[in-house]
Formats: sequence, C-alpha cells, structure tokens
Amino acid sequence: MKEKTRNVHPPQVRPADDNPPLVAPIYQSVKFEYASVAETQRGLKGERDGFYYSRIANPTTRQLEQQLAAMQGRQAAIVLASGVAAITNTLFALLQAGDHVLCFAELYGPTRQFIRRSLKRYGVTHSILSVEDDAGIEKVLTGTPTKLIVFESPTNPMLKVADISRITGLARQYGALTLLDNTLAGLHQHSQFEVDLYLHSLTKYASGHGDVLGGAVIGDRALIDRLRSEFVLLGGTLDAHAAYLIQRGLKTYYHRYESQCQTAMQVAQYLATHPKVERVHYPGLVQHSRHALAKAQMQQFGTVVSLDLIDALAGNRFADELKLFSIAASMGSPESLIVPPALMGTPDLTADQARLTGIAPGSLRLSMGLEDVDDLLADLAQALASL
Ligand SMILES: *Cc1c(COP(=O)(O)O)cnc(C)c1O
Repeated sequence: MKEKTRNVHPPQVRPADDNPPLVAPIYQSVKFEYASVAETQRGLKGERDGFYYSRIANPTTRQLEQQLAAMQGRQAAIVLASGVAAITNTLFALLQAGDHVLCFAELYGPTRQFIRRSLKRYGVTHSILSVEDDAGIEKVLTGTPTKLIVFESPTNPMLKVADISRITGLARQYGALTLLDNTLAGLHQHSQFEVDLYLHSLTKYASGHGDVLGGAVIGDRALIDRLRSEFVLLGGTLDAHAAYLIQRGLKTYYHRYESQCQTAMQVAQYLATHPKVERVHYPGLVQHSRHALAKAQMQQFGTVVSLDLIDALAGNRFADELKLFSIAASMGSPESLIVPPALMGTPDLTADQARLTGIAPGSLRLSMGLEDVDDLLADLAQALASL
C-alpha cells in the first residue's frame, strides 16, 4: 500500500473479549461495514445484528438507549439531538390530520407551541386545560375522541403535580395514548404508572454538567420500534460523542439528583419562613396543595424550587443580587441557577390560559446545583436582605 492509501486504512486496535475497557469506547463512525454485499443486505433487513449508518443506529447511542430504558423501567428508548427534538419527533410520528390532543397550559413552552401552532398546520386539533383540572380532563375525553394526552409532573416552573394514575386510567378508558415529559422528576421516577411514553431532556439531569444537549423517548418495544421507523426519516439523531458525554454524566446521576433534592428541600424550608417571601412552590413542602399526592407518586421531590416574593416588582433585582445562582435557563447543572420574572413569560397564551400556569408577576424559579447548601442559603439571605 502507498502512503495515501495506508493513511485512510490505519490499523485498528481491538481489545480481546476478555479484556474490555471499563469505559465504553465512543463509536465516532458514521458507517459500519459487513464482510460482503449479502451480509450487508441481511443487516439492512434486520436478519442479523449489526450497524450500517449512524443516523439509523450506532453502538454508543444504542448503549445509552438501553441504559435509559432500564432506568425508566421500560423495554426500549430512542435518543435524539435535544429534548425538544424528542418531543417534536414523537408528536410528528404519532399524530395525523384529524387527531385531537389534550395538552396543558403548564407544559414546557416549546412543547405547547409545537402542539398549538405547528401541528395545527397539519390538521391536528387540541384542548388546553390546567393539569390539575381533573374534572376538565374527564370532560374532554368523554366529549372528544382524543388520540394523545401530553403532560408533565411536576410542571415547570411552578411545580404543580399531575394525578398520574387518574390520567393514565382515563386515557385507557377512552383509548388515548399518554406521553409524560418526565424531565423534572427524573429517569428513576414514575415508572410504576401505565404511561405509554416517557420523554426526557437529557440536557438536564442525565448529562448533569450543562455541556451537552440530548433527548429521549422511552416505552415498550413495539411502540418504540414504530417511532424509530419514522425518526429515521426525520434525522434528529443524537451524535455518538454527545451520547458518550451523557453516559459519562449518568454515572453520577443518582448521587447528583439526591444531593440536589436535599438542597432543594432545605432551600424551600428556609424560604417558606422568610418574611419577604409570599409563597414557596415545592412538592416536598407539606403546604404544597398536592403534597400528599406527590408523596404517594414520588420517592424524591426534585431539585427545582419556585417562589413568589411579597414585593412582586423586586424579583428581577433579587436575581441580580444573587452571587451563586446564575441567571440562566435549564436545570440539573453543577451550578445553581435562577430564572427571574422577566424571563418567565408565556406570550403564546391568553391571559386566562396564562393564569392556569400559576406563574405570578413576582415568580422566580431556582434550580439547585452542587454547591454547599450553607453557601446557597447565605446567598439567598443576603439577596433577600438587600431588597
Ligand atoms: C429543558 C426541557 C425540555 C427541552 O429539552 P432540550 O434538551 O433543551 O431541548 C423539555 N421538557 C422539559 C420539561 C424541560 O425542562
């Protein structure tokens, strides 16, 4: 072989099967080959194991899919380039013109907007309620044949809690599928319910370091296989290197989530007694309107705490005064974060719909990082004192 040829066909080092690496390698390869045309055809028809093209499947992303499915107590998963890609691909694959979706004002903004604005262009209709409106949910299902219910629990940012078994029970009774965006609760919670599909932004707790985007949809094999055949045509695949970073983050998932939950509980308890705080929203507090339900549904109450200040106009200043909480979107990072009132808007909703979200003019969302809780409490104390 000449130099140029050797350069594109370098030797490969493959450890023996009894000598595996402790950390799985990153298969940063778009293509995989078989030994012959016949074997390639068998591979493409699914008659043998193997990989062909990384938009369809890749060993690194496949490994992440299997890990996520196991964490959520289901058979299969598909990972995508972001949480929003997981949502939009799933909705696009499940729905067609004439279908009706039940969604909620408290949904993550882009999810709500995709259903209400983008899917509308394809002839998909929707109803929008509060996720706590149990009677309303039943009324929609009895009155309108519904293909899909899209919901979250706890909701972002006001941490309302959905009655999951009630919603899945009604969905079964009326023949609707359920899609639960379980990002805030995490991959280890809510598995006991008869939810058809779980959705996660892996950007948050799974990756845990705020350095990579990713999303996943998780469910039983038959439904996930059906989605996969559609997703291949949409092309929103997660890259192998991003999958590796998320797998690396997952190794500390339970430790981070637990620590951030403990911090959240202490922060919520501190804020709940502070004279400048009107209300604290955290499902772990006994004064939360659905604390008993949250306690029955969840092992842990999450890492996000929202609050309303008595002086509704002081929220943005409060955020500016904080030193350790960065003014930034997202959650599940090593750094603690705050979303101030000025960034909490819901411009796609009418005033009546916006009221259902529970967001008040002075509402702020805190997301716990991995700092020492004493430092975070001191930071909150000094910022509140300055108002
Ligand atoms: C962040 C988030 C998403 C979107 O995830 P990305 O990875 O940012 O695209 C979806 N749902 C919820 C509840 C989220 O918090």
